[in-house]
Amino acid sequence: TQAPCLVSACLLGLCTRYDGRCKRNDACLDALAGRPYLPICPEQLGGLPTPRPAASILGGNGHDVLAARARVLDIHGRDLSAAFIQGARMTLALARMQRIELALLKADSPSCGSEAPGIGVAAALLAQAGIRIISF
Ligand code: SF4
Repeated sequence: TQAPCLVSACLLGLCTRYDGRCKRNDACLDALAGRPYLPICPEQLGGLPTPRPAASILGGNGHDVLAARARVLDIHGRDLSAAFIQGARMTLALARMQRIELALLKADSPSCGSEAPGIGVAAALLAQAGIRIISF
């Protein structure tokens, strides 16, 4: 059977975003084209609530956060690095359980964003594990 692909839950229309809204993306749904998929939200998997304060990476990108060279801070200055790293690890654990090789991830997110140099924490860990990422 075909291995599923990971998908950022908010791209499917699930209201997992920091502001409690979704970013349903029809191009992403088209790309899934009937193949099995596993919705994930790395920030929720890291234990963060929804809604939650917006966050961004300070001093680098997701790879730097994983290497403790940069931090994730929310708009109140709270350090969320540990939760983001935990969410990334949980996401990778699920991907490995399902032998996932492809992830369709939301762009412009401190977790799921995948464009260098702004790659997010979960996207960075998946990329380090050799999982291909397509950004939506
Ligand atoms: Fe969507 Fe990823 Fe943000 Fe969760 S962490 S709301 S899946 S972009």
